[in-house]
Order: sequence, then C-alpha cells, then structure tokens
Amino acid sequence: MSNNQVSTHEQRQEWRAHHLHSASPFLTQMPKIELHVHIEGTMTPELRWKLSQRNNIPLTIGPQKTPLTSLKQTHDAYKHIRGRIGAASTKPQESFTFYEAYYGGMELLRTEEDFYDLAWEYFDKFAGMGGVYCEVFFDAQGHTRRGLEISVVMGGLKRAQMNAERELGVSYSSYDPFPNPVAE
Ligand SMILES: [Zn+2]
Repeated sequence: MSNNQVSTHEQRQEWRAHHLHSASPFLTQMPKIELHVHIEGTMTPELRWKLSQRNNIPLTIGPQKTPLTSLKQTHDAYKHIRGRIGAASTKPQESFTFYEAYYGGMELLRTEEDFYDLAWEYFDKFAGMGGVYCEVFFDAQGHTRRGLEISVVMGGLKRAQMNAERELGVSYSSYDPFPNPVAE
C-alpha cells in the first residue's frame, strides 16, 4: 500500500461516524462478536438516571459538580463526554471526562439488581445489533473496594448472562481483571 492510500485520522473518524448510524442491512444484520467490553462502561444515560433515582444518589457533571436533575439533562451530558465522536462541547463545566463518566457510573451500582440491569441492557442491545458472542470484563476489585460483596456483583452479572444465553442466543465469556484494579 502506498502512502496516499493510508487513510487519515479524520477520514477514519468520518467513516466511523457515518457507519455508527448506518441502516444498511448488510451491516445491521451481519452477525457480530465483541471481544473486549468493560461492562461498567456500557451504562446508558437511561440506566444512569434510573440507578440514581433507585439508589438516591444525585448525579453531577464537571468540576463544579453541577447537578443533573432530569433524564434529559443526563442524556445531554453524554453528548459532551470529551473525546467522544461528535462531542458537542469541550467546555469542562459541562462535559464529562471519560473517567468521570466511567467511575461516576460505577458508584451508582449498589445491588444485585443494579448489576443485572447493567448487564442485561448491554446483552439486549448487543443482540439487537446482531451480536452472537462477547467477552465481558468487569472490575471486581473496583466494586469490592467500595464495600460491595463480590456475590452482589457476580450474582447480577451471572443471572443476566444466563438469561441472555437462553432468551437472546448470546454466548459469552467473562473476565474478572482482578490483578488489574484500573480499567485500561
Ligand atoms: Zn480493556
């Protein structure tokens, strides 16, 4: 391949943004595998809002800890995660960093049901995209460090995995990155 055939970073971003919203049946119906997903990072704005309500934990954004007081605000905040494709803003007071989004979401996970909902939402969405097999990582130490019993974490994830296999036809392997307390 000669140099002029190598795509630029901008071209690759454009290609990704284009296909992210593609309705092409070739792409949408193609069976898919996902080989490296950190389950805690899959939390949607809807689940984030639901968990904050369920566990009575206020949501905030940015260094000034501006409160997020509705699902719509929470949804909008996701458009501002820095580095995200198409991020609407890079103003720190109204944007999450990746780690604020990730660890802020982890804090909301408290019960077996919370972990079930997190994993089930992911499997359901994955199956909807034609997903058939995935390898799921979870941050066991990140949760036990917060005082949760490992059985709370494992119980919810395992139940969702078994239901996903039975009801959605999604098979999986899961990995506990125990020796690696910080997400890659
Ligand atoms: Zn990773």
